[in-house]
Order: sequence, then structure tokens, then C-alpha cells
Amino acid sequence: MTPICPTSGKQQFATTKAAKDSLLSKHNRRKHGGPKYTYRCPDCGSIHLTRVPPERIRRGRRAS
Ligand SMILES: [Zn+2]
Repeated sequence: MTPICPTSGKQQFATTKAAKDSLLSKHNRRKHGGPKYTYRCPDCGSIHLTRVPPERIRRGRRAS
């Protein structure tokens, strides 16, 4: 079972590799709409999956 972050509601991964492994196994066949990136959550300190590129998160998200 994968623990869930209380702040973001996302799955928590201990490492970026674990997150990417999960991403590949679950979303490999999806074209778009699934998460592609990983980032470290500032709240819980775990790795989460996201659709938003990491550089956008840092700059303050501005969806376009
Ligand atoms: Zn978190």
C-alpha cells in the first residue's frame, strides 16, 4: 500500500525512482492526462507525481 500525503492527497514515495517506477507501470499506456514528473513535497518531504513540470512549480504555477 502506498501512503497518502495529508496535504496534497497524492501518493507518497520514498524516492524519485520509486515514484517513476510506479508512473511507468501504471501510466505507460496513457498518452496524456497522467502525471509525468516527480517532485519533493515541501509539506511531507516525500516524493509525489505531478503533471506540472518542476520548473513551473518553483516559479509559482501559472497554468497556460
Ligand atoms: Zn506531500
